[in-house]
Amino acid sequence: MRVTLLGTGCPVLHPRRAGAGLLVEAGGTRVLVDCGHGVAQRLAEAGVRIADLDAVLASHLHTDHLADLWTLVVGGWHQGRTRPLRLLADPAVERLARGLESAWAEERAQRLAFERRPNPAGFGLEVEPLEAGRRLVFPGLEVEAVPVDHRPVEPAFGFVFRAGRRILATSGDTRRSEALIAAARDCDLLVHEVFVHRALPIVPGVRESATIAAVGSYHTAIEEVGPIATAARARALLLTHIVPPTADPGELVLEAGRGFAGPVIAGEDLLSVDLATGTLAWRGLAARLADRTGG
Ligand SMILES: [Zn+2]
Ligand SMILES: [Zn+2]
Repeated sequence: MRVTLLGTGCPVLHPRRAGAGLLVEAGGTRVLVDCGHGVAQRLAEAGVRIADLDAVLASHLHTDHLADLWTLVVGGWHQGRTRPLRLLADPAVERLARGLESAWAEERAQRLAFERRPNPAGFGLEVEPLEAGRRLVFPGLEVEAVPVDHRPVEPAFGFVFRAGRRILATSGDTRRSEALIAAARDCDLLVHEVFVHRALPIVPGVRESATIAAVGSYHTAIEEVGPIATAARARALLLTHIVPPTADPGELVLEAGRGFAGPVIAGEDLLSVDLATGTLAWRGLAARLADRTGG
């Protein structure tokens, strides 16, 4: 099983960090979790065709996780997809998807009539319900939706993937979640979001102390992430959804590492980890995950 971070950012735009999205591949199956701004572009950079995705899982109704949804619909159709894009979504995200269909209906009808592509059925979206505890089985890959705590956004999901003996857990957006810790137990890799309070100063007209307190309260502070990985008995920790995206990666690794004895990686767009071999790759560099516990 391999995971590739397609976007490690958040709503704050940053050239190196696209909106949230990650790709999980195992046994010929390809599942995308979230599709924030820039994720479709990152998928192309990773050399993966939208048309080859088996499903898209939506973690929750936030723009930085969904902005590229319609680009995936149109882009996959242009790549020859012969059936609608399969989206698993809660009722709120489904309403967004139906709204997008409606908003783009005129353009879609015009393109279908004028471009005369041989795969009209590929220009669409097939939405299936996603609820806590739902298990999906793909060839070589299983995934379970885990309820996390991103209130007032409800529901919000993390996901636990299993391929053979390997386990990958992803947090989605959440404050510390005991449900996620339980579901992620003994995972080979925990991909977790982080919020860095000290990197977010008050800026008049942009954010006040109340803004920082509110936004920070539905995310997970960097100081909390190491203890979460320890509680889940994760073998390694990969940080993503870095708020703010300008936070120093080296400092993130040091801070998270104070609460976790295993390897900590600060995520970057297009960084991938192969869970079977314990190797990570990024921009032509590769490294093996060391185990600081010596186990
Ligand atoms: Zn987010
Ligand atoms: Zn969110």
